[in-house]
Amino acid sequence: MEIKKVCVLGAGLMGNGITQVCAQAGYQVAMRDIEQRFIDGGMASIKRNLGRAVEKGRMTQDEMDTVLGRITPTVDLSKAANGADVVVEVIVEVMEIKKKVYAELGKIVPAHCLFFTNTSGLSITELAAVTDRPEKFIGTHFFNPVPVMKLLEIIKGHETTDETLKIATEWGKTLGKEVIVVNEAPAFAVNRVLCPMINEAFFVLGEGVASAKDIDTGMVLGCNHPIGPLALADLVGLDTLLHVIEGLHEEFGDKYLPAPYLKKLVRAGRLGKKSGKGVYDYA
Ligand code: NAD
Repeated sequence: MEIKKVCVLGAGLMGNGITQVCAQAGYQVAMRDIEQRFIDGGMASIKRNLGRAVEKGRMTQDEMDTVLGRITPTVDLSKAANGADVVVEVIVEVMEIKKKVYAELGKIVPAHCLFFTNTSGLSITELAAVTDRPEKFIGTHFFNPVPVMKLLEIIKGHETTDETLKIATEWGKTLGKEVIVVNEAPAFAVNRVLCPMINEAFFVLGEGVASAKDIDTGMVLGCNHPIGPLALADLVGLDTLLHVIEGLHEEFGDKYLPAPYLKKLVRAGRLGKKSGKGVYDYA
């Protein structure tokens, strides 16, 4: 199956990044969000990223214009999904909202259209089950920031066919990503390993064992990580991180108890860089 038109649902942090890499790879992309201000925010981010590439000489102005010309931003779901070969769903991490969107989609897209979801940890099998095509449903988990991070973690649901896996893998490679394939499990593979480590950093911080700066410096210089776990938590979003850890706790029990200090920061509205303050202040 040849993919020509990609429909991206969600123009937020991840959605606009996925739209950008798809358009750069030559696909026609419709980017849909529920309000014009989210669309405007998403387009501004894409233009900023491409503009920076032009300034640095990595792309010409003509190439930038061609990439932008492949993107159709819209708030109209029918317009976005009509004739799509693939829908990449990148909306808020709430099971019921995602299910509602998938239930509507089946009536709009062609029968051959595949459904990809960028969920960080919700069950692919459960989402697929509300659609009319669970065999064409798969997880495509990108990392933030999408245009920079090389990894694409692909997650097979219970009903996903090998054909769907093959198409998703090929598509990921055309976006310049390195693909890993994972069977569905809570938090998949990468976040299953990463999030408990970040959670532990919040225990260490909350217990007063070391300062945030020293914990981060320790992990950067002592373990060769490119960024400390607490600074990374601020980039991911403390609320998103807490969601993943709560999901692991629910599935596997006390081994994954969320750190009380992480919960306290989320309750204080310190959600990380996106809210101006998290573990660190970004005034
Ligand atoms: P975000 O809040 O930046 O963007 C979500 C967007 O979805 C918002 O603009 C919102 O208006 C829009 N939206 C809500 N309902 C919609 C609907 N019915 N149709 C279309 N758009 C709708 O969130 P994000 O960080 O981009 O995360 C999106 C998804 O990607 C989530 O499932 C998240 O778990 C996953 N994810 C996030 C990260 C990360 O680092 N933030 C990494 C990997 C995966």
